[in-house]
Amino acid sequence: MKVLITVKTYPIPSAKYDELVCTAGVREDGGFVRLYPVNFRDLPFSQQYKKYQWIEVQAAKHRGQDARKESYRPNFDTIKLLGEPIPATRNWAERAKYVLRGKSDSIEHLKEQQAHDRTSLGIFKPKKVHDLVYKQASSDWKASFKAALAQARLWEDRKVSKKPPRKVPFKFQYVFECDDPRCKKNHRMMIEDWEVGALYWKLVDRGASPDDAAKSVREKFLRELCADDRDTHFYVGTILAHPKTWVVIGVFWPKIAKAKMPRSDEPLLFN
Ligand SMILES: [Zn+2]
Repeated sequence: MKVLITVKTYPIPSAKYDELVCTAGVREDGGFVRLYPVNFRDLPFSQQYKKYQWIEVQAAKHRGQDARKESYRPNFDTIKLLGEPIPATRNWAERAKYVLRGKSDSIEHLKEQQAHDRTSLGIFKPKKVHDLVYKQASSDWKASFKAALAQARLWEDRKVSKKPPRKVPFKFQYVFECDDPRCKKNHRMMIEDWEVGALYWKLVDRGASPDDAAKSVREKFLRELCADDRDTHFYVGTILAHPKTWVVIGVFWPKIAKAKMPRSDEPLLFN
């Protein structure tokens, strides 16, 4: 299948793959695909795809354990990058062509689809993003993850030298409402976007305190990605172990195209 990669989630430790990432994207018809599991760090560089890059990959529909509509198990060896990522030019127009083709109206709409056909991925435009809240979380992975990781290390000594993914010691949530009469207008949704964790660690590595780093993440993901001049959409998906829980897995935030105004030296025409 040909997939335009749109989202990567923050990695978690795993027994079999050392660390797991969920990757999602859209096909040419706008249908969503989840590629899972992917051990992104172990992919050779020539196969390390970027966001908004088309890839080709052989993948099989998951059976049993992961019955979500869009879940496919990729064959890593077959991943081929197709050209450079689509640039953000013209207010992301070329990206939007594919990404917004399968757009949903709201979280309520997605849940309705989920009840029908096990939809577990989508994109929609929140009517209003009220806030981005964060609170302190454990600074270490839960015991089951750590046990899984220890097991992975035993099996494959080539990975002994590798560091596990770092656990972000905060939970970030978007507070928003949808444009839907059914909306209770108080969604608080966890953000599992790779970019949130990446920004957090970038700031900490540059010397920011954990609190300041979390504050800056909030500023960026609220004030910039959800600014008034942005046509902000959320990529959302469900969690395998908790199918009723939807989380934000990425943000689509092109600038709103300005209406073309006549230049001052051009006469205004009225009829
Ligand atoms: Zn809603």
